[in-house]
Amino acid sequence: MSESTGLQAVESIFRTAQQHGFKRVKLKYAGGEATLHFKLVRRLHQRAVELAAETGLALKEVVLSNGVHLRPDDAAWLAANGVKLMISLDGIGELHNRLRPLPTHAPFDTFTHVQHTIDEVLLPLGIKPDITMTVTAVNAHGAADLAKWALIDRDLPTSFNFYRQNLLSASRADLDLEEKALIEGMLAAYAVIEEHLPERPFLNGLLDRVQAEAHTHTCGVGQSYLVITHEGRLAQCQMHLEQPVSNALNADLLLPVAAGPLRNLSVDDKAGCRECEFRYRCSGGCPLETYRVNGRWDVQSPNCRIYKTLYPAALRLEGLRLLKTHGYLH
Ligand code: SF4
Repeated sequence: MSESTGLQAVESIFRTAQQHGFKRVKLKYAGGEATLHFKLVRRLHQRAVELAAETGLALKEVVLSNGVHLRPDDAAWLAANGVKLMISLDGIGELHNRLRPLPTHAPFDTFTHVQHTIDEVLLPLGIKPDITMTVTAVNAHGAADLAKWALIDRDLPTSFNFYRQNLLSASRADLDLEEKALIEGMLAAYAVIEEHLPERPFLNGLLDRVQAEAHTHTCGVGQSYLVITHEGRLAQCQMHLEQPVSNALNADLLLPVAAGPLRNLSVDDKAGCRECEFRYRCSGGCPLETYRVNGRWDVQSPNCRIYKTLYPAALRLEGLRLLKTHGYLH
């Protein structure tokens, strides 16, 4: 992303937020690998801070990184400027290396680099990055190790998000196997968490897009969320970059986003969800994933069985956490 495109993006976002009466702006610097372009991140942050002061809008920022190489200077800058850091970690040790190799000739131990960044650079500076694991049938068996490493041993906010490689498979057997792997992997992770219950709230990260607070929409697509590519194109979602809704950053970014092809319905408008006891926590799952599988926006998530199996287990952990925090569990 060129500096001029980045600045135009930040300015358009603040202008749009003001036009629509928002109270705050949250910027996520993602990539590619945003930490390879830290000079640009710092420049865009500086402009965002100016605009927040001018408009009275609150500002939150987060950098999404693979955590492989973060310079101590840049880490200190994040801490000094209140910019959060989110690191993608898809397993511990070899599992992460296999899923997130670097394009070098020799095998590259990315996990050791991430571990070094967290243990030697971030934690000594008091920075607790959010850890995000993309859970698939391939690495679900490693969710328990990751929960122990990140959430228990280091007290890092940790979230588990699902990616179903086989969702478009015609084979019921493939789908069932994938579901089984995800459910078993997550239940094993919950068992580890139960053994060492953190006292800090952790329910929100435990189950894909499921949230503890009551809500009707899975995400902000079409209402309060937008993505700007490195070329300055506007998209509704980071999973939909191939279909931008505008090739320019015009006066109002939300209008084209709201009118785009991706429809983000309320859970009350999804068949199969309306009567579900979990509807205002689950809200029916990712709309785009549902559409890709079913060709419809107004039906329940293809992950429904996983959510229905895991949500009671995740909620139970929250109950245990509350009991422990208030001294009823020893
Ligand atoms: S658990 Fe299933 S039925 Fe219930 S809200 Fe989620 S997707 Fe819909």
